[in-house]
Amino acid sequence: MGKSSKDKRDAYYRLAKEQGWRARSAFKLLQLDEEFDLFADVTRVVDLCAAPGSWSQVLSRVLIKGEKFGRSAWEDKQEVLRQQMLKVCYGNTPRPTEAQDLVEDREGKAPKLKPRKDVKIVAIDLQPMSPLEGITTLRADITHPATVPLLLNALDPSYDPESKSQHASHPVDLVLSDGAPDVTGLHDLDIYVQSQLLFAALNLALCVLRPGGKFVAKIFRGRNVDLLYVQLKIFFERVVVAKPRSSRASSVEAFIVCLNFSPPKGFEASLEEPLGVGDKLSKMVKSGVQQEPIIAPAILQDPGTGSWSGSKAKPPMTKNEDGVYELSLSEDEEDARQDGRWIAPFLACGDLSAFDADASYHLPKDRVTLDPVQPPTAPPYKRALEMRKAAGGAYGKTSLK
Ligand code: SAM
Repeated sequence: MGKSSKDKRDAYYRLAKEQGWRARSAFKLLQLDEEFDLFADVTRVVDLCAAPGSWSQVLSRVLIKGEKFGRSAWEDKQEVLRQQMLKVCYGNTPRPTEAQDLVEDREGKAPKLKPRKDVKIVAIDLQPMSPLEGITTLRADITHPATVPLLLNALDPSYDPESKSQHASHPVDLVLSDGAPDVTGLHDLDIYVQSQLLFAALNLALCVLRPGGKFVAKIFRGRNVDLLYVQLKIFFERVVVAKPRSSRASSVEAFIVCLNFSPPKGFEASLEEPLGVGDKLSKMVKSGVQQEPIIAPAILQDPGTGSWSGSKAKPPMTKNEDGVYELSLSEDEEDARQDGRWIAPFLACGDLSAFDADASYHLPKDRVTLDPVQPPTAPPYKRALEMRKAAGGAYGKTSLK
């Protein structure tokens, strides 16, 4: 497929090149931020599975350079109206800085916030990533335990790997993971590998997040994904599944947004026995990480009847008559219980007037096709391309006779 037809089919692909983003994924993060205000009070971030780096670019531009994105058209209009009212009522009243930004925006300058102090951003990927200003990049596998000391060291150079500590001395506010395996097309396999990436990201997040921190990760919505939501609910006060408008409706992709990290008392993250492997969660119940024990999601639901046991348990974790500890849910979360399962709320985010990721758009005749902002440094298909070139093209020099 030519670049031009991809431009036509995918407005975000084109827009990314126009706005200087390395990948169209930048819009997903911007739309998630628009909905959840992810970057509020954030200065320390870990960006997992970050290559080619458009999420890191967003972080750099918002946190380091102080650029402002993602305000919805609706909010903008409200602000214009407010400014007009102020002008009518008070003449040339000095405007608050925020409003000044908006006006400058309309006058063609990029709106600016104050760059934040002491920003630390660490990006990790299996693939090499071209450098980005102010971002520490690591080439590593997030599923490998050796990545933890690498990350802790990148976050705090005084970290001593000999200490064997698996916790950041100076923890982070936000962990992002846009990890995706090379999709095989075998849905169950892809969903399984994706869930392993998510567990790896969660385990790293548990080691480095500060209480109250946020975790956002890509998920593929498969058959048992609701069990995963319950697992995340053990560690975060609010868990929401979000689908940004720039993520194709036809794709099983979504993002799990976990807010207010509040691990159960006594919980110690350890990659020697990571979550998602074995029965660590159930063991924690048995040995009673006391006061507030937690429960493996599998025993939240009676596998025979599909119903919840002891459903009236009250906060935060309660032992039912069978001696099983349960997660208790707030009233609105109770409403989300359906057929004996807790369904995380689902939110479509991104302005409704934004481009539709599944639509094809008309392109003006005089439009120039732009090259990608950052061509892949070492894509997995590089060797295949080299071999094809060496063989004289797709069919080889002699095979088409
Ligand atoms: N967020 C990125 C951006 O905005 O440019 C795009 C990420 S891309 C969809 C998925 C990335 O996950 C790929 O670069 C891939 O190399 C990375 N990845 C997959 N498995 C990984 C692993 N085990 N460890 C580290 N990175 C991994």
